[in-house]
This record gives sequence, structure tokens and C-alpha cells, in this order.
Amino acid sequence: MGRRLLLLGPPGAGKGTQAAMVCRALGIPHISTGEMLRDHAGRGTDLGRRARAIMDTGELVPDAIVIAMVEDRLGAEDAGCGFLLDGFPRTVAQAEALDGLLAPDRSLEAVVSIEVVEDEVVQRLLDRAAKEGRSDDNEETIRNRMAVYRGQTAPLLEYYGRDGIVRTVDGMGAIEEVFGRIAAALAGG
Ligand code: AMP
Repeated sequence: MGRRLLLLGPPGAGKGTQAAMVCRALGIPHISTGEMLRDHAGRGTDLGRRARAIMDTGELVPDAIVIAMVEDRLGAEDAGCGFLLDGFPRTVAQAEALDGLLAPDRSLEAVVSIEVVEDEVVQRLLDRAAKEGRSDDNEETIRNRMAVYRGQTAPLLEYYGRDGIVRTVDGMGAIEEVFGRIAAALAGG
């Protein structure tokens, strides 16, 4: 049985990059709601158009939409052997829905929280904006995404803290260095 993991951290903490590395190392699927939403937006689906308008402000797409996407994705065969969630859940309501989606013997076993210094992260996101041209990477949206993270997503640390499954990792430093810390945190049981 593969592992059932969640990677948590503010925008720009390097979640996407680290998630891909962890998934490659462990051979589990990478489930990123941000990627799924950008894929919809890129294909110009109805959902994608609505999501893009919200994403461009830095606010969250409605819970019902992302919960339905994740339910669908977790039902796929490859997710039966473990998975890593990246960017979902982002609200307590989503976390409660996830609990309902996962059978008791398939619940999350570890939540890795990547901690960073906010100013550093804003700079990283501005650099990414210049390189990748993501439409939600302008300074105003970035500040709002930070505020949304603090207000709506950070409470998940307490939510999962009650289960004793949170492992905190320092997200500052080189990509390989941070990956080493995550690998060590996950190796610890
Ligand atoms: P990400 O790629 O995870 O940084 O997500 C980019 C944007 O997609 C976020 O700022 C939200 O607008 C939207 N999004 C991604 N995942 C979720 C989620 N679980 N709940 C609500 N909105 C989401």
C-alpha cells in the first residue's frame, strides 16, 4: 500500500515542485487541484472559465467544485495505491469532505507543512510570474493569496494537528535541501 500524503504551505512555498519530487520518489500520483483548474482553464471549459476569473483574484474556487474534482480523481485506479494531495484541502470544509471521501482505513497518514518567510515567498512568486507568466502571479493577487492562506488554509494545521499527523519542514533554502528535509520527515514513520 502506497502512502497517503498532504503537502501544505503558503503560495510560493515550493509545494508544486516538492510534490512532484516526492511523487516521483515514492511512485504515487500527484493530485493538484490548482493544476486541474489550470488545465480546465487552458481547455476553455465552462468550469475553467469560471475558475480562471476567481483564480485571477487570488480567492478560492467554491468548495463544491474542487471537492467534486478530487472525489473523481481519488476514484481513479492509480489513487488506490496512495497519493499526494497538493493544494487540497484548502479550507476546513474541504478537509471535512475529504474525511468523508476516504474510507477510515485510507485516511491521511501524514501532513507535511512547508514553512517559509513571507517576504521571501512573495519574491519567489514574482520571479515565477516573470518566468511562467501565470495570470495569478501579480503582486496584488499574491498578497491576497497569502491572506487567503492565513485566514482559510492555515487553520488546517490545527485540524490535522489534532490527529497528530503534522510534520513541519523548513522550506527555506535550495530545492534539493528542502526535499531532503521532507524525505527525512516522511521517513520518520
Ligand atoms: P495552486 O496552484 O494550488 O496555487 O492554486 C492556484 C489557485 O487555484 C488558487 O489560488 C485558487 O484560486 C485555486 N485553487 C486551487 N486549489 C484550490 C482548492 N483546493 N480550493 C479552492 N481553490 C483552489
